[in-house]
Amino acid sequence: MGNNHSFDVIVVGAGIAGLTASYVLAKKGFSVGLVESKPRSLIGTKPCGDAIGLHHFEALGWFPPQDTIDTKFKGVKIVSPSEEHSLIVYGEGVGIDSRKFYQWLLKQGLEEGVELLDNHTLVSVKVKDDKVEAVLVKEKGRPGLKEIYAKAFIDASGATPALRSKLPREWPISERPYMSDYNIAYREVLELEEPIASEDKDYAIIYLNQEIAPGGYWWLFPKRNGVIGNIGLGVIWSPTSPNPRNNYYKYLKNRFKGKLIDAGGGLVPTRRPLPTLVWRNVGVVGDAAYTVNPVHGGGKGSSMQAATIVATHIANALEEGRVNEETLWGANKEYIKAYGAKQAGLDILRMYLQKLSNEDLEFILRKKIVSGEAVYELGTHGKLRDEIIRSLRIALALVSRPGLLNQLRVVKKFMDDAEKLYLEKYPEHPSELNKWIKDVEYLWSKYRSLIGFKLGPKVPW
Ligand SMILES: Cc1cc2nc3c(=O)[nH]c(=O)nc-3n(C[C@H](O)[C@H](O)[C@H](O)COP(=O)(O)OP(=O)(O)OC[C@H]3O[C@@H](n4cnc5c(N)ncnc54)[C@H](O)[C@@H]3O)c2cc1C
Repeated sequence: MGNNHSFDVIVVGAGIAGLTASYVLAKKGFSVGLVESKPRSLIGTKPCGDAIGLHHFEALGWFPPQDTIDTKFKGVKIVSPSEEHSLIVYGEGVGIDSRKFYQWLLKQGLEEGVELLDNHTLVSVKVKDDKVEAVLVKEKGRPGLKEIYAKAFIDASGATPALRSKLPREWPISERPYMSDYNIAYREVLELEEPIASEDKDYAIIYLNQEIAPGGYWWLFPKRNGVIGNIGLGVIWSPTSPNPRNNYYKYLKNRFKGKLIDAGGGLVPTRRPLPTLVWRNVGVVGDAAYTVNPVHGGGKGSSMQAATIVATHIANALEEGRVNEETLWGANKEYIKAYGAKQAGLDILRMYLQKLSNEDLEFILRKKIVSGEAVYELGTHGKLRDEIIRSLRIALALVSRPGLLNQLRVVKKFMDDAEKLYLEKYPEHPSELNKWIKDVEYLWSKYRSLIGFKLGPKVPW
């Protein structure tokens, strides 16, 4: 780093969100310091399923280079608990080689002038005059702390946010979530003794099973023509939830034999986004801002979208010479339109799905209550459209399950209300944010009590 202890922007975390944000800012000519705990060579090694829907890249307007792609998926196959019934949701995606892709993204940033401070861990934040003035970082193997100053800061430090958790409690971006807002996941990457069957190798396969993966699912994502399998599971996080690694060993280890390439896990936020991605001179992106899809837990694509939006607004505010929530507010509006409102609707659906039993899930897939197209619609727009409810009504009347139909009506109403609250009622100005947060909390708590969803304790950080 030399003696330069000051940048236009400090980005904390060189995951997919931080790499994207730092690249966008450097390309616009700003000086960017990218602070990352890991050494440079390990950037891109975060345990993940590595599946990304192509629609995210379409929204970004660029695509990953061919040599960073391991697999192309035609869609997602959803399998019932007995594994006798399934549903295909068409929609193209890619399985990326994360390490190659992140290293490529990092190189793009470095070429634009990003200064990588790898082996540097943020340990503290200096707030002065109601703004973040500097971050205090510890370099591995060196005594003492360094103070790094900047005009703006981006927290891209992942599911256990390092920067925003140290900000004044009255700043809305310092919000502490609940454990049940997360899944805890574990996965192994194997070179399989028996390659994945040819009819399955073009799909990301999701297995619904509340015994193996309570409040989540287990997955098999084929790579390299089915020779490699990315296999894992996620469970809803609580003080009593099973360790996903134990469940992997109990239910899946013997089923998939082969040479272990990688193993690991982590937390996945599965909720609506942080109420604001910006406050004072700080932006929050990626898992730190819960930009993950609440139903399937995919967060890489939306991390890149959020990072691009927030970084662009920070760049504009820096040009204007005023970086605060007022000048950055448009980032919230843009993100909500691009993805956040859909997340809000899907957060409502996810709590309902987490409460379904294996019998319910089996019934829905066996009786073909929902079609692949309906799930695609749901996944793309986050909405249970009227046509879906109409066809469900017919399907459910035929099998005489009025209880399920009534529940789905409730879920649909709350999904619509949630989306409206985000798309139509999101505050025009930061001064109205607290009132809006109360409206959101009111809607969510009404829904939770209707479906009997317990939030449980807050996270330990
Ligand atoms: C097991 C598993 C499977 C998943 N499968 C998929 C999938 O198939 N598809 C998909 O799209 N998403 C998936 N996700 C979610 C996805 O991985 C995340 O949404 C995404 O990687 C988030 O990126 P990020 O940049 O926000 O955070 P991260 O990738 O977590 O990056 C944060 C970075 O910040 C660094 N950092 C943290 N604290 C500090 C500090 N104090 N100082 C300096 N640096 C720090 C970390 O070292 C890390 O490099 C999965 C997640 C898990 C856990």
